[in-house]
Amino acid sequence: MPSCLIVGGGVVGLSIAYELARRNWSVTVLDRRQPGREASWAGAGILPPANRATARHPLDVLRGLSFATHREWADRLLAETGIDNGFQQCGGIYLARTAGEAAALAGLAEQFRDEEIPVERLRHGELASFEPALARSADRFRAALWLPTECQLRNPRHLRALAAACQHHGVVIEPDVEMIDARCVGGKVTCVETTRGERSADQVCFSAGAWTAELLKRLGVSLGILPIRGQMLLFRAAAPLLGRILNDGPRYLVPRDDGRILVGSTEEEVGFDKRTTESGIADLIGFAYDVLPALRDTPLENAWAGLRPGVYDGMPYLGRLPGLANAFVAAGHFRSGLYLSTGTALVMADLIGDGTPPFSLEPFRPSRG
Ligand SMILES: Cc1cc2nc3c(=O)[nH]c(=O)nc-3n(C[C@H](O)[C@H](O)[C@H](O)COP(=O)(O)OP(=O)(O)OC[C@H]3O[C@@H](n4cnc5c(N)ncnc54)[C@H](O)[C@@H]3O)c2cc1C
Repeated sequence: MPSCLIVGGGVVGLSIAYELARRNWSVTVLDRRQPGREASWAGAGILPPANRATARHPLDVLRGLSFATHREWADRLLAETGIDNGFQQCGGIYLARTAGEAAALAGLAEQFRDEEIPVERLRHGELASFEPALARSADRFRAALWLPTECQLRNPRHLRALAAACQHHGVVIEPDVEMIDARCVGGKVTCVETTRGERSADQVCFSAGAWTAELLKRLGVSLGILPIRGQMLLFRAAAPLLGRILNDGPRYLVPRDDGRILVGSTEEEVGFDKRTTESGIADLIGFAYDVLPALRDTPLENAWAGLRPGVYDGMPYLGRLPGLANAFVAAGHFRSGLYLSTGTALVMADLIGDGTPPFSLEPFRPSRG
């Protein structure tokens, strides 16, 4: 049985492990903490609609594959583990406040129509009838789009389901094992050195999120991944206040079925510091109260931050490492790692298994630096 060692057990590493194990690989996942407790846990779980059949840009093709696969995985994870990851098609509303934002939204609507993704423009006055909780704030917005097929899932549940499904398929998950170095001989990684001794496998895949570039420096590989902090708030209402995801530029409100509402998020370049800050929280609270005034009477349950793996050109790195026949990277998914994790798993399992991915991964190649 061929073997693969995966370094980093976030949603990307666990998804690749799951897919390889389903294809009868012997897989081990190492994580220096408990798997799935970094960016993947911190995220909001927004899954914007995409259509692989009509997509032109390579990233949109990956989005389309990922979007279609989420529904299938949610059903399969539930059947295999009994854990419901909270996947649901709740729909999303995109908001514009200024003339410039309204023009950008019109362009976005055009792109959705081109890609045959259902989209509707909400006329003045329709927003509040759509989401009654916006009655007091609807006048702040010049334009709004309704995307009925936008979906969401609940990150902690999805990660629990993935880890359980991995174990169900025989994946060995090793928490609290940190990779510190790797040895390469004859153009291959022969051994990964960890805080708990050496590990080796036929193939090695590095998926350590925001930490991947630091790790791969030790193998002489340079990648343009840097941590971008995102802070998040969680309100807990007694009953649901909203039905749909609200997207307002880079910020959003995501309603869960149980009355909880996530409010995100900041984008900060502060190195590997994942503390929340007073100003970040105050900024998100101000945004939340402005869009949804009813939150003023709703308790704030929690606040946290995570480090997104940002990449200078917005494209994740997916592919074989230059000069190393048995080493791969899957990292740098920035704001979309939850979303792109399913498609990433499918194409990386093809590549690692010496198969042919369903589309060219050339634009995602690690050798672009
Ligand atoms: C606030 C916020 C909101 C977000 N919202 C969304 C959203 O709505 N939709 C979406 O699709 N994406 C969202 N994202 C982005 C998404 O969370 C990330 O792109 C994704 O989680 C990246 O997954 P990953 O597996 O690459 O990284 P991570 O989840 O960070 O996992 C990397 C793993 O590698 C491990 N590791 C690091 N170094 C080592 C080492 N030396 N040895 C062993 N293990 C190591 C870490 O412990 C960690 O578990 C959001 C992110 C944030 C922070």
